[in-house]
Amino acid sequence: MKDLFSVKDKTVLVTGSSRGIGYSIARGFAAAGSVVLINGTSGESVKKAVKQLLSEGLRVHGIAFDVTNPAEVEKNIEKIENSVGPVDVLVNNAGIHRRAPLEDMTMEEWNKVVEADLTSVFIVSKAVAKYMITRRAGRIINITSLNAEAARPTIANYCAAKGGLKMLTKSMATEWGKYNILTNAIGPGYILTDLTKPLSDDPSFDAWVKSEVPLQRWGQPEDLAGAAIFLASEASKYINGHTIYVDGGWQACL
Ligand code: NAP
Repeated sequence: MKDLFSVKDKTVLVTGSSRGIGYSIARGFAAAGSVVLINGTSGESVKKAVKQLLSEGLRVHGIAFDVTNPAEVEKNIEKIENSVGPVDVLVNNAGIHRRAPLEDMTMEEWNKVVEADLTSVFIVSKAVAKYMITRRAGRIINITSLNAEAARPTIANYCAAKGGLKMLTKSMATEWGKYNILTNAIGPGYILTDLTKPLSDDPSFDAWVKSEVPLQRWGQPEDLAGAAIFLASEASKYINGHTIYVDGGWQACL
């Protein structure tokens, strides 16, 4: 029982972990004793994040690749499996926004977001699951959003992608449970990162978040690490296909 929540010595790949929520989840796993792989498209940002975490005495490696590029993903997953170790836990966190009113949204804005926030999870999970299936073990955690449940103007591409990701999570749980691969999701609420800076910089939106969220504050990236560690540990070994919303209670009063 004492190791119920342990993730010690697990190899954990967190996509999009050079900053923001991914960085805090990666840092949380590493602080709990995991070996963590830091990812992003910018090699410079990945290096900077790795340097910081190494200076804290944590076990991390950097691996820059674009999660929307199937050939790059295949090559880099193979590299991780052969040089760092078997991926025990995959956190599909990388994501982007391209905001525009629906009637003005371009095909490029639509496609970019669906590719980065939904298709990438199919690409990376398939590449990692190939190895997890042979081992009959694995945990996959998809970072969705409150916007998988509730829409907001100017982010129809994002809402569609995250709603799709909620169902992809259930599909992965349904098809890969027989291989002892457990797939769940975390749906963050309003968290202070670069992605939400345009919103937190807007005084009326900032006031709206603080008045609507029962905890009366924005979430911090560190608020997500606990749920991710729980979903990777023995403590959650019969939980498969669910989403945990880490939103300060916002969804409770929608
Ligand atoms: P962020 O601060 O903008 O960080 C995004 C991370 O993803 C960066 O490390 C970025 O690195 C990486 N990334 C983006 N596209 C990538 C690609 N194609 N391949 C590899 N890495 C890529 O974002 P965040 O706020 O932490 O959000 C993280 C996740 O949480 C996203 O899925 C987002 O939708 C979700 N989420 C966030 C909030 C929130 O309030 N912040 C709420 C709900 C859900 P590079 O720039 O180097 O590529």
